[in-house]
Amino acid sequence: MTVAPPDTSTKYDLDFAKWVYENIEGGDKLALCMQCGVCSGSCPIGVQMDYGPRKLFMMIRAGMKEEVMTSSTQWNCTSCYRCVVRCPRSVPVTYILQDLAAKSAELGYAQKTNENVNFARSFWWSAKTFGRTDERLVTALYYFSFGLKEGYQRGLANLKIALNFVKRGRMHIGLPHRIKGRRQLKAILAKAEEIAKREGLH
Ligand code: SF4
Ligand code: SF4
Repeated sequence: MTVAPPDTSTKYDLDFAKWVYENIEGGDKLALCMQCGVCSGSCPIGVQMDYGPRKLFMMIRAGMKEEVMTSSTQWNCTSCYRCVVRCPRSVPVTYILQDLAAKSAELGYAQKTNENVNFARSFWWSAKTFGRTDERLVTALYYFSFGLKEGYQRGLANLKIALNFVKRGRMHIGLPHRIKGRRQLKAILAKAEEIAKREGLH
């Protein structure tokens, strides 16, 4: 029997775990993880993730930086908190995943592999601009974030669904709905940004 040679393509960054402990919200609690797998076993969206949280945490310890930072795990987490409630070591799994997503986008990893980054950006643009999400603009911005040709193709593929929404009054035609206090919303977001920068969360 021929034994396959070991895979030497994986690069290990031995300082990565330390970086996560010090820079990711809740990361300092990762050392408490005992790899029981309750989080992964409880996760309703686990099948849609590259790795369950348990495995991702082990990969952090192993220094698999590239694989962790480009993983879909943190982007597909729906923040349901089931893992947090059940973790016997009170590891704040959700916060860790949320901040890993933010940092992976900030440092340019996530864009390489993950469509959810484009969706999150479109969603955030609408929420920030109008104080609510306009599904038509969010969808259009998301589709065209893949380029003109793909934008049209995706739009055409979903046109029938969109028209049915309009017909049944589930989607309106006309200007986007906006909240009244947009100026206050901008001030709140600017303050949050300032606090995040001051506390090194950016
Ligand atoms: S449930 Fe908690 S202790 Fe168990 S693997 Fe998940 S994070 Fe680690
Ligand atoms: S918070 Fe995220 S990781 Fe935890 S159970 Fe829910 S979807 Fe899964």
